[in-house]
Order: sequence, then structure tokens, then C-alpha cells
Amino acid sequence: MEQFDLIVIGGGSGGVRAARIAANHGARVALAEEYRMGGTCVIRGCVPKKLMVYASRFAQEFEEAAGFGWTLDAPRFDWATLKARRDAEVARLEGIYRSNLGNAGVQILEGRATLLDRHTVALSNGECYQAKHILIATGAQPARGPDISGHELAIDSNGFFDLPALPRRVVVQGAGYIALELACVLQLLGAKVTVLVRGEQILRGFDNEMRQHLQAEMAHSGLQFRFGREVQAIARAQGGLQVQLDNGDVLDTDCVLRALGRVPNTSGLGLDTLGIALDAQGAIPVDDFSQTTVPGIYAVGDVTNRVNLTPMAIREGHAFADTVFGGTPRRVDHTLVPTAVFTTPEAGVVGLTEEQALKTHPHLDVYRAVFRPLKATLSGHTGKMLLKLLVDRDTDRVLGFHAVGPDTGEMAQLVGVALQLQATKAALDATLAVHPTAAEELVTMRTPAVRHNL
Ligand SMILES: Cc1cc2nc3c(=O)[nH]c(=O)nc-3n(C[C@H](O)[C@H](O)[C@H](O)COP(=O)(O)OP(=O)(O)OC[C@H]3O[C@@H](n4cnc5c(N)ncnc54)[C@H](O)[C@@H]3O)c2cc1C
Repeated sequence: MEQFDLIVIGGGSGGVRAARIAANHGARVALAEEYRMGGTCVIRGCVPKKLMVYASRFAQEFEEAAGFGWTLDAPRFDWATLKARRDAEVARLEGIYRSNLGNAGVQILEGRATLLDRHTVALSNGECYQAKHILIATGAQPARGPDISGHELAIDSNGFFDLPALPRRVVVQGAGYIALELACVLQLLGAKVTVLVRGEQILRGFDNEMRQHLQAEMAHSGLQFRFGREVQAIARAQGGLQVQLDNGDVLDTDCVLRALGRVPNTSGLGLDTLGIALDAQGAIPVDDFSQTTVPGIYAVGDVTNRVNLTPMAIREGHAFADTVFGGTPRRVDHTLVPTAVFTTPEAGVVGLTEEQALKTHPHLDVYRAVFRPLKATLSGHTGKMLLKLLVDRDTDRVLGFHAVGPDTGEMAQLVGVALQLQATKAALDATLAVHPTAAEELVTMRTPAVRHNL
């Protein structure tokens, strides 16, 4: 049986990084992938999604151009062209992932992998391999949600990327970032979209004020929301589908997209035979160095359900390889996570929410700017941006940044650097503005909108 120092299961963000770095450290590495190299992010997540977001935003740009003197013939959009070009780019990236692994000396094993014991992995073709260490980086998949009649008529985020044409009417079920991003793409490309939210607000876990602002902006630009509603059944109807809601309402649609969260890919991996128990969400519990309860078996990325984002999976994979093969034990900090929601308008956030900050910082100052960006004065766009900073009055430390509007994802990346450097409000005040920009509001907010004294 062929022997390795490391077998990685899963060729996504975390697995590929871990395999390459371990090989660079001199380890003999194999990586098993059952589908396409690159994983969720490259094949059916971040990358193809962002390309769709770019495509969708032209719709607004064309409209706004008139305010700047442009006259355009009615623009036409062709879904098939976009899909073909997007799929070609994804295939190109997949090829790069493969060749990078090859160049690093990683042996690629094609097929589904199962653990037989602490050192042995079986592939779906019957071949078996052994390694001193095994890394599980199998990611997550769309949650199926409650079993309702007709659920097989709905698609999930994977199905979204396979859609052969733009549906005329879409019902999106879910209120997480994936549901909202895909809803905005479909709506801007021309579909009539209704978003069904089980609770009373979108984006659980984000800053409340940011959530409200973003939701109002999306509603303002034509997305329809129905709150406090569940789907009871989906049925075929003449010319499309019918969605029956729990209050008896029936929605006619052409497509139902369910984005109800994601579940870790752990079933059928053989974890039970190894004595690795899963947590309540079905994820693999690990320690600070990503080791499972079984020595020599590690797990990184979405399968551990810590912070389910590509940069975190990459960082965990890298830290694992440095720890086990590079002689430099590295823990990953899961606390300061800059991130973006690529809705239109988009949201960018980093640090504590106001609700979180208040639990530990009773003297909290909230700085807020709500304004129409300069471009809107001529474009006629009536949406408003939100930039919000949370500052601990006792130490002057900036604790959080929450923003809605164009390019706020890009802002979150840079504010993330400032927060990593433990920036104070005084440091922001001392920073000269870049004028005229929207981001300059960050360094020109003088008076708190709210002064909490708990
Ligand atoms: C629609 C969508 C949009 C997203 N947008 C963003 C975004 O904008 N920014 C961001 O940071 N994150 C985004 N994410 C999340 C991001 O894609 C994940 O956090 C990231 O891909 C996790 O990486 P991973 O290595 O843990 O798993 P994955 O990338 O999911 O890779 C796991 C791999 O393991 C393979 N596999 C599973 N089981 C086996 C087995 N038994 N044998 C062999 N192979 C197996 C799978 O085929 C897959 O290729 C998005 C996700 C989705 C679904």
C-alpha cells in the first residue's frame, strides 16, 4: 500500500493550501477530491457568485449613466453568454489549482475518500493509501431544510449555478448572505424576486442597525420581502410552480431557490469507526491546532464550522501544515474577521456588532454617517449609504465597523488592518481624508450619534 506523510481529503480552499504548504515543508502528500479541484469557493461559491454580482450591477450602471449625459439603446442581457464565460473562467481556475498542486509535488487521488482507520484512506475505486497524518477538509453542502412536499422542485445554491436561463419569477427562501446575494443578482438581471424570511430580520448575527439599513435599501430597489413566513409545499402549476406558505398564501413562480444554511460534509467519512463524535451541528470538533479528538487526524475549514469563509479555511490549512510539518506551531485567531455581503448595495463589516460590544464595553460611542454618495447627485439613485463605527470611550479603541453601500467590502478589508493594529478613534481622526470619496466619512466623524452608558 502506498505510504504518505499526509493525506488530505478535500481539494477546496483549506485542503489545497494545507497540501501545498505541507509539501513545501518536505512532506510526501496526497490529496483526494471527489468532484472538482478548487472546492466550493472556486466551483460554486465565492468566485462564480462574484462574477454574477458584477454582471448584475451593470443594470444599475446603465440606468444611472443617463444622469451623466449618456444615451444608451435598451441594453439586452444574455444569460447563456454570461454562464458560458463564467464556466470557462471557473474551468481555467480549476486547472491552475491542479497544476499548482502538481508543481508542489502533491499526488492527486481522484475519487471519494473514506477513513478505514487512523492511518488508512480508501478511495471509491477501491484503492487504499496510508499516511502518518490525515487532514479532513471536506467542506459543507447546502442544507436540505425541512422535508416539505415538492422540495425536489426547488434548487439550492449549487442549482443556481446550473440554471440554463434566467427565470422570470423567483421565490428565494432564506435570509443568510447566500440567499440575499443570489436574490439581488437575479433581481438586477431582470427576474421578479420574492424573499421569504422565517424570522423578522435578515442576516442573523450581523449588526442590527446594519441589517435594517441593508434590508430597507434592498426593498427600496425592488426586492420583495415576506417576513415571518415558512414554505409548506411546492407544487407544479400550469406554466411554472406554486409555493404554498404557512398562512395559506400561494405564490406563483418559475423557480424556488432554497438557501437555508449549510451542513458540514461528514456523512459516510468513517468518522464513527474512529470514535470521532460530531457536535450538534454535525461538525468535527477540533482543538486550537485543528486536531480532532484522535491524534494524527486533523480537520480544517467548513467541516469544522468555526468561521465558514474561504480566507479562514486557507489560514487554518496553512497553520495546520506549519504546525505539523514546519516545526512552527500556529494557532488561528477566529475573532477579527473582516467580511462582505455582496448584495446590491453591498455590506462590509469587521469587528464587534453594537449588540456584542455592549456586553463588554458599557461606555460605547456609536459614530454614524448616513448619506447619499456624490455619484447619486447626478445618477438619480436614491439609496443611502451607512458607515458606522463603534468606539470604546474608556480606551478610545475602535471595536467595530459596519457599512452598507458601494465598495464597502473593499473598505472592510482596510478597516480590518486598522483594527488589527488596534487603531484608536484618535488615529482615525488624525488620518487625512481622501476627497471626494465615501470612505472619507470614516475619518471625519466628529460627534457620536449615540453615547451608551450602561
Ligand atoms: C454560494 C456561496 C458563496 C460563497 N461566497 C463566499 C464569499 O464571498 N467569501 C467567502 O469567504 N466565502 C464564501 N463562501 C464560503 C466558502 O466557499 C467556504 O467557506 C470555503 O469554500 C470552505 O473551504 P473548505 O476547504 O472548508 O471546503 P470546500 O471549499 O467546500 O472544499 C471541500 C472539498 O471536499 C470535497 N469532498 C467532500 N467530501 C469528500 C470526500 N469524502 N472525498 C473526497 N473529496 C471530498 C468536495 O468535493 C470539495 O471540493 C461561499 C459559499 C457559497 C456556497
